[in-house]
Amino acid sequence: MNILLVDDDLVDREIVKRAISRHISPEKLIEVNTAQEGLDALELDSFDIVLLDYMMPNLNGLEMMKVLRSRPKLGNAAIVMMSASGDEKLALKCLQAGAQDFLPKDEISASKLTRAIFQAQKRFELESKLFESYCRVREMAETDSLTGLSNRYHFERSLNTAVRQNTRGKSSLALLLLDLDHFKNINDTFGHELGDELLQEVVKKIAACLRGEEVFARLGGDEFAIVLSDLGHARDADLVARRIVKALEQPVSVREFKLQTGVSIGIALHPDNADSSKELVRFADIAMYQAKHLGRNQFCFFQDIMQQQFSRTFQIELELKKATKEKDFELHFQPVLAGKDQELTGFEALIRWPSCTHKCTPDEFIPMAEQSLLINEIGNWVLDTALETLARWQQNYHPELTMAVNLSARQLEDENLLDVIKGTLKKHQIEARHLTLEITETALLDDNSNTKKTIDQLDVLGCKLALDDFGTGYSSLSHLVNYPIAIVKLDKSMLPTDPSHARHMAIVRGMSVMSHIVGLKVIAEGVENAFQFSLCKDLSIAEFQGYFFGKPLSGKDIEAVWFGSKQASVKLNH
Ligand code: C2E
Ligand code: CA
Ligand code: CA
Repeated sequence: MNILLVDDDLVDREIVKRAISRHISPEKLIEVNTAQEGLDALELDSFDIVLLDYMMPNLNGLEMMKVLRSRPKLGNAAIVMMSASGDEKLALKCLQAGAQDFLPKDEISASKLTRAIFQAQKRFELESKLFESYCRVREMAETDSLTGLSNRYHFERSLNTAVRQNTRGKSSLALLLLDLDHFKNINDTFGHELGDELLQEVVKKIAACLRGEEVFARLGGDEFAIVLSDLGHARDADLVARRIVKALEQPVSVREFKLQTGVSIGIALHPDNADSSKELVRFADIAMYQAKHLGRNQFCFFQDIMQQQFSRTFQIELELKKATKEKDFELHFQPVLAGKDQELTGFEALIRWPSCTHKCTPDEFIPMAEQSLLINEIGNWVLDTALETLARWQQNYHPELTMAVNLSARQLEDENLLDVIKGTLKKHQIEARHLTLEITETALLDDNSNTKKTIDQLDVLGCKLALDDFGTGYSSLSHLVNYPIAIVKLDKSMLPTDPSHARHMAIVRGMSVMSHIVGLKVIAEGVENAFQFSLCKDLSIAEFQGYFFGKPLSGKDIEAVWFGSKQASVKLNH
């Protein structure tokens, strides 16, 4: 047994040594007379037991014990604290701080000291085991098993500590939030196992861009966070981000594949951008979305302007949720006219949100509704209201009027859509052929298995499918072949505004010729002037829509303008 005796009092040391020698013959017994010497001795040598005087000049016994207990393996020695005072409170304090036993000096006898030493040793053994398993559990709870990085829980704690320690004004702390680009695609295409391997490779690449002392965590999925502390300047964060983006520009080798991902990084600085760690995360997240938005594989520093944009979006989203619940929307209807004689054939239903405090247009709030999944509920309301209106107009004015309703990609992914449409048609006793469903090409690109199924079933049901905004996106002819599309809506940007736009003219002409050959109906949208009108007429385009004939109007206004007594016949001549 190796014993270290730490006591500044020579007489006391002699008493202790004598007591020990009665029953124990230690292999080594070292005595020192200050706490600092004791700590040094413990660094150089290993001891089973430390007999530690409480009252010493400079560092006292309790303080020395605290230093020891913060070392790995709790300093690896049992401690018996000794004090001239037998104060119960002091004894408790010492035990709580990590001593295994406490002996008042006036009670020291050979047998008591021997018992204290052996019991302390036993206790320390047990406590060490407990501490070890605690450390193991903590490590498991704090690391991500796939990558070995810190997990979200540990990241949050570390960030809090880093923010607290980052004294204002002195240096900067940067939070980098990373999100891999196209990871979902790779995961879906190659499977999760390969996706996991890719994550591990990516982590290696990112780690190679770091010094090693930074907090580097996996927050979940393909999201990571890095905390850079003690930055002299924000430029340093810029350098690290640049290095990471560059490292991931090259394809990553996983098994026999070379996979191209990329990373979008958002950076927020403490204290420059935010005071609290919560805000810091939020701002880095906003910057990360901005980086994605700017075209991926790049990084973006948070700027206040983003916060303004973000809070506007946030407010609108809240309002939109409420409006959806209360069905606080209106429908406007834009007339669709036959090309050959400008007879009214039907309408396109377009949603309006008049109570929105930010005066949002559908182009702004529909994408938000798509993101927050409110679109299904909104879409159902549009469908119901549009068909209810159509039923009334068919009865009162003309039984062959049609209604076009816009569907978003998300709605097509929804397995209930077919039943909702069937049910709504039935509710208002509308024939399916009088309902046109307008979808955009991006909905077809989503490659959701339900989308194709739903589109085919809608076709079988008898609804007409229209490809909206044709000419703006991919304009892939394969979509016209692979999907039961009956109508192509030429986007308003495709219509030339005057005859000098030769390319536009040629494309519109080509489209119209091709559509006639394959039996597609073409509708020209956004016909705004007489030139465009006569052009479309010359090209025998089937139907027209646009401000030249009529702007979208409320149902009441449509009735007044289009079904008023003067135009009861519905037959219109421009
Ligand atoms: P869209 O489907 O391409 O609708 C045509 C847009 O062009 C409408 O804008 C319409 O008001 C506008 N427009 C009509 N004639 C002219 C014209 O002669 N000149 C010009 N410059 N514009 C014209 P709006 O109503 O603002 O709707 C914008 C987009 O929002 C729609 O584009 C559609 O994608 C979406 N949207 C509108 N209502 C709904 C809806 O109920 N559900 C879904 N999913 N999307 C909707
Ligand atoms: Ca449309
Ligand atoms: Ca359109």
